[in-house]
Amino acid sequence: MKYCPKCNSEYREGFDLCSDCNIPLLEKPTPKDSSNLTEKNEINNFYALRTVASILKVLAWIWAIFTIIGFIVIIGQSHQEGLFGVSSGGPNILLALFSLFIGAIVFLFFYAISESILVIIAIEENTRKISEKT
Ligand SMILES: [Zn+2]
Repeated sequence: MKYCPKCNSEYREGFDLCSDCNIPLLEKPTPKDSSNLTEKNEINNFYALRTVASILKVLAWIWAIFTIIGFIVIIGQSHQEGLFGVSSGGPNILLALFSLFIGAIVFLFFYAISESILVIIAIEENTRKISEKT
C-alpha cells in the first residue's frame, strides 16, 4: 500500500504520483504497526492491573457497607437490651466501635492498595509517553 505524504491519501499498487498533489507516493511504513501491537499488549497488561485495582476497590466498598451494617446491628442489639432493662449496653457499643475501627482499617488498606496500583499505572504510562516523545 502506498500513500501520499502530503494529503495522506492511500493508493493501490501501480500508482507513483498523487493525483491531487503531483508528488511521489511513499510506501506505507510497516514498523508503526508492530509498535502499535506492543502498545496494545501494554494496554492489555495495564488493563489486567486496572481490573485488579477496581475489584479491590469494590471489595473495599462492600467491606465498608458490611462494617456499617454490622455496626448498626450491634448498636441496635445493645438498644434492645436496654429496652429489656438489662443494665449495660456499654460493652456492645465498645464492640461496635471496635468492629467499626477494624472495618475502617481494612477498608483503607484495600482502598490504598487499589489507589496505589492506579497511581503506579498512571506514572508508568506517563514515563512511557515522555520517552516516546523524546
Ligand atoms: Zn496527495
